[in-house]
Amino acid sequence: MSNAASTVSQLDQNIRHDWTLEEVQALLNKPMNDLLFQAQTIHRQYFDPNQVQVSTLLSIKTGACPEDCAYCPQSARYDTGLEKERLMEVQAVIEKAKAAKAAGSDRFCMGAAWRSPREKDMPYVEAMVRGVKELGLETCMTLGMLDSSKAERLAEAGLDYYNHNLDTSPEYYGEIITTRTYSDRLDTLDNVRKAGMKVCSGGILGMGESQRDRAGLLRQLANLPQHPDSVPINQLVKVSGTPLEKEDDVDPLDFVRAIAVARILMPKSHVRLSAGREEMTDEMQAMCFFAGANSIFYGECLLTTPNPAANKDVELFKRLGINSQHKVTQAPEELDDLIPEPKDESEQYARLGA
Ligand code: SF4
Repeated sequence: MSNAASTVSQLDQNIRHDWTLEEVQALLNKPMNDLLFQAQTIHRQYFDPNQVQVSTLLSIKTGACPEDCAYCPQSARYDTGLEKERLMEVQAVIEKAKAAKAAGSDRFCMGAAWRSPREKDMPYVEAMVRGVKELGLETCMTLGMLDSSKAERLAEAGLDYYNHNLDTSPEYYGEIITTRTYSDRLDTLDNVRKAGMKVCSGGILGMGESQRDRAGLLRQLANLPQHPDSVPINQLVKVSGTPLEKEDDVDPLDFVRAIAVARILMPKSHVRLSAGREEMTDEMQAMCFFAGANSIFYGECLLTTPNPAANKDVELFKRLGINSQHKVTQAPEELDDLIPEPKDESEQYARLGA
């Protein structure tokens, strides 16, 4: 074994799945400089600190969801003015994926507002996976709950990642969603993993949860049998008409702390700066990257919520010296034309936890 390989395997022995709530809370409460130093030190052991993975997210079926996630305007239970849309045509999805690739994305994520995919939808989503894979992109989907047979079918079609968030701590979960249980979510993650796909799972800050709940969420993710390959940490996008529209803002430094603790608990996972990035300053995003975030969604749309324009991301990366080797095949000013346009203002939405 080479020296580098043996160092990584020694480091891997330190990866834990038995964190206590108190330990996670103690990390969240550390002096900021100590916390960031620890997170950045761990980050450098596993990742190039100046590389950020870039994904594009497309809503392939919007609105009219039967679930009651309190943050989500796609729930049919809330009047958010969101216009519902049927499942997109396979070819239209592939065209969007081509545009995302030209804009520098290496992963294409497709999200549908379903409780779980129906039998009759499966051939279409499988065709989308195959078509996007053929472009040379990694594929990710978020379609709601999956039983083992649907998970196996998606894996068979070539799906690389499946996103299913835990959203919050087990204790706070019932305040946010009543139509599916925490253990339903854990079952889906289990089915995805057993089918051989990579797991993308994270949560949302800013839903009125306590610091203990934030620690509880991070602990749940870190104590899964295998750490999720991707861990999206979202900041609530408050959408009018949803029960959480008037929640208090998250303290930006508390958000950075959560990113740093995610990095420390799950050293090999990509920690994704996800929904809510539109409301973050460049400086806050820079701190998140320093804390160990190394994945973002690119472009203007995060399903139906606004996301910083692709060229703004390119500019920020340039200022930070991130991804200087990245292969963007379009000039920055042309990127916004390639990324799917956001829908109208009333469609602001964070599809955060399907
Ligand atoms: S987060 Fe997903 S499951 Fe929940 S209401 Fe929205 S679309 Fe439905």
